[in-house]
Amino acid sequence: MGEFDLIAKYFSNAGVKRTDTCVSVGDDGAVLQVRDGYDLVVTTDTMVANTHFFPDVDPRSLGHKLVAVNVSDLAAMGAEPTWLSLALTLPAIEEAWLAEFAAGLHETADYYNCQLVGGDTTRGPLSLTMIAKGQVPRGKAITRSGAKVGDYIYVTGTLGDAALGLKLVQGQHEISKKHQGHVLQRFHYPAARVALGQALRNTASSAMDISDGLAGDLPHILRRSGVGAYIDVNKLPMSQALRDSCEPALAIQLALSGGEDYELLFTVPENRRGSLDVLLSPYGVPVTCIGRITGLAGKLELKAGEQPFFYQHQGFQHF
Ligand SMILES: [Mg+2]
Repeated sequence: MGEFDLIAKYFSNAGVKRTDTCVSVGDDGAVLQVRDGYDLVVTTDTMVANTHFFPDVDPRSLGHKLVAVNVSDLAAMGAEPTWLSLALTLPAIEEAWLAEFAAGLHETADYYNCQLVGGDTTRGPLSLTMIAKGQVPRGKAITRSGAKVGDYIYVTGTLGDAALGLKLVQGQHEISKKHQGHVLQRFHYPAARVALGQALRNTASSAMDISDGLAGDLPHILRRSGVGAYIDVNKLPMSQALRDSCEPALAIQLALSGGEDYELLFTVPENRRGSLDVLLSPYGVPVTCIGRITGLAGKLELKAGEQPFFYQHQGFQHF
């Protein structure tokens, strides 16, 4: 099967057809209509075999994850996802693998109402690059640079589950049968907080998604905003699966520095904090206040209640 047959068979005709897509896969470029009064938001994510995933991973989950991690970046900006492009490097054409990968990619793209509008295929070591495009009302994108001293720091959902899922996959940690499904789902099929990100457009002063772990990612907001922060580790939201499966110290470590949760991390000024519960209640995703922005530029302090919490940060290794 040649490159063109491959594109036609797996990537041309599947998935949602958006009315704002004028020219899609098959031409030299895609032609896309950005809504009047909206800004275009573009993000790229690459996943390389043996660096970001195991080569023998279920290709369906890989297709899902590639879309979800890109859409998660759009969600963090408060953008509505609209289009995707794919650059696929494959060591060989294995149809069974491609069919499953494409199915995972398309079902997740459909879920987020994103259309695949272009791409490229090459022969080489297995590597997946996706470009995701979204739209946000002009000037309303939520960036990492808007956090102010006194803002409250929130995260969506729970932290550490994907890292625990990874430990299970690697055979590094025993987890009771009843919790295995949850952590494997969180690791293989992360959800992008799209609706919630859009709901935060007029409320959050800054936001990002947590891909490399809270303790590694929050400093990006601190640097871009020129502020500091403290986090109370006793407030980190954890699933029952994480609590039941780990000693408290390990649970905190995974919640702080386990990557790939793809939850949103955002800050809210005090005067908008009161309306947050009402604003976010329709989305069915809990949000938890875990700390506050301080004036100590670049400094992230960890506390356990009123006590300092000492912790050696280990950056997320991607697998
Ligand atoms: Mg991100």
